Parts: sequence; C-alpha cells; structure tokens
Amino acid sequence: MASPDPTLTLSLPLWWCLIRELRRRGGGVSESGAFVLGHRQGETAQARRLVFYDDIDPGALRTGIVRLSGQAMNAVWETCAREGLEVLADVHTHPGGAGQSRSDKEHPMVATRGHIALIIPNLARSVFDLAGVGHYRYLGAKRWDVLPAPRLGFLNVQFRGTL
Ligand SMILES: [Zn+2]
Repeated sequence: MASPDPTLTLSLPLWWCLIRELRRRGGGVSESGAFVLGHRQGETAQARRLVFYDDIDPGALRTGIVRLSGQAMNAVWETCAREGLEVLADVHTHPGGAGQSRSDKEHPMVATRGHIALIIPNLARSVFDLAGVGHYRYLGAKRWDVLPAPRLGFLNVQFRGTL
C-alpha cells in the first residue's frame, strides 16, 4: 500500500540547481520560487523537474514577494499532464528565516490536503543550510503541519513525510 506521507527526494544536482537558480532569480533582493514536479511511487516522491515561477509568469517576482497568476498555474498543470508528472511541492525563498508568513499559511500555492511547501531561508544564499529549510504539509482550512528539516542522503536530499 502506498504511504500517505512519502519521502520527497531530490538528487543533489537537482537540489544544487534549485538553490542556485532561486538565488540567481531573486538577485539577492527578491523572493523567488518554483514548483517541484516528479513521480510518487510507494514511499517515495522522486523529484524530476523544476518549474520556476518567473519562467511561467514574468511578473511573479516583481513585488518582492512571490505571486502567481491563474494562467501560470494552468501552465504548470499542462506541463504535468504533458510530461506525466505531479506537483510534489512548491518552494520559495525568504529574506530571513524559513517560518511561514501569514500569507504563506492562508494562501497555499496548491490548496490540496497533503500538499508540501518548502521555504529556503536567506534568499537561498547557501546550498548547505539544510537545517534552516522550512518543510510544511497542508492540512486544509489554512492549517499546516511543521515537518522535519531535510537531511542529506546518499547523493540526494530527503524530506521525510513523518514527524
Ligand atoms: Zn513566504
């Protein structure tokens, strides 16, 4: 039986790409973000591909806080359908720590129970600060579980779905 809380796994190259691109796109001044797409299989959710917000919505980073248009969300669902992938998580940067803002809690990027949101602190300055990464699971009704920070695995970064 498939676990309801699979471990989200990103290969190290994909993790490095994610952090480097989030940092570059935010330019050290603005938040930036991406969707993590991939496959769920049993107890793992394997990330395959990243879709950066500013690639699907040129205005996404303009206010300093990430915002996506409905049209951009459609582009994500179309990419998933075309490539046979699922949205495994969303991820965005914060200038400071990785706690959820009120807006983060009240406006999930994907408002589905079980959706995973990740927050990278310090505008993604460090690829090594795994302990500082925020990991949250949506419970519905604007409530979230706080999950453990990711851990370094064998050639990957693992977000465990259980406390
Ligand atoms: Zn936020």
